Amino acid sequence: MDRKQFIKLFSLIPLAGMNMKLSDLNKFSQQLPLTEKMPVLFLGHGSPMNAIEENEYVSGFRTIAKTLPKVKAIVCVSAHWYTKGTMVTAMPKPKTIHDFGGFPEALYKVQYSAPGAPELAKQTKELIKKASVGLDETWGLDHGAWSVLKHLFPNADVPVIQLSIDYTKDAQWHFELAKELQSLRDKGILIVGSGNIIHNLYDAAFDRINENFGYDWAIEAREKTNALLLKGDFDQLIHYEKFGKPLQKAVPTPDHYLPLIYTLGLKNEKDKLELFNDKLLAGSLSMTSVKIG
Ligand code: ZN
Repeated sequence: MDRKQFIKLFSLIPLAGMNMKLSDLNKFSQQLPLTEKMPVLFLGHGSPMNAIEENEYVSGFRTIAKTLPKVKAIVCVSAHWYTKGTMVTAMPKPKTIHDFGGFPEALYKVQYSAPGAPELAKQTKELIKKASVGLDETWGLDHGAWSVLKHLFPNADVPVIQLSIDYTKDAQWHFELAKELQSLRDKGILIVGSGNIIHNLYDAAFDRINENFGYDWAIEAREKTNALLLKGDFDQLIHYEKFGKPLQKAVPTPDHYLPLIYTLGLKNEKDKLELFNDKLLAGSLSMTSVKIG
């Protein structure tokens, strides 16, 4: 691994902890009108370069966007906002965060100027009983959010809030928290998890990032997780660490896997589940994405 790859690798591992500012919270009583039930997405975001490259994955994002009903606002659970405690972004104009290092200048010039949704942030805080949710004014949109949303909503005209991932909690806890967000689906809110099911940067062959190949363990991990997803066996997916070597290699740290758990927590009995962008690349990464509902 050369120096550039080393910088890239560590810039992509979320930094734990960040300051938050709690605003006074007034009771938020305004209810959004009921709409057609919104699907839920898990998007494999992969390299930040997907934000500015043209490839089969960004094409997959655009195709899935065409299948969605009218989206009023987005709640995004990104692998790259990994905090102690749970927070939602509550600012009216979230900034575009370039939370990576060692990439071409063009990537740092990308601005995704979707508005925030302070009222939705308050409503989300009120819905969540499992945690005392902080209203954050300092984060913005990290690349886990904007690098994919840019392809789904290129006009940046749909408001976005981010919900952070509490790194002190296990997958079961996150699965249960996600269930509390269910009613948002009836109000035109699209909930998006952004991460990667198989995400082992330590073993990645960065020189083969544009090739569809996986190491044997990655092939096995993909087959296993896909089968469980399609079968609806979420209990095993929640307890992925008991799966043995392939899953342990696929999920060396839970940050990129937990956004998937959020989307699974939001699936109803009646919802169908489909996979797209279901490819391995660079040996130890998968782009597999999921549409629920
Ligand atoms: Zn990432």
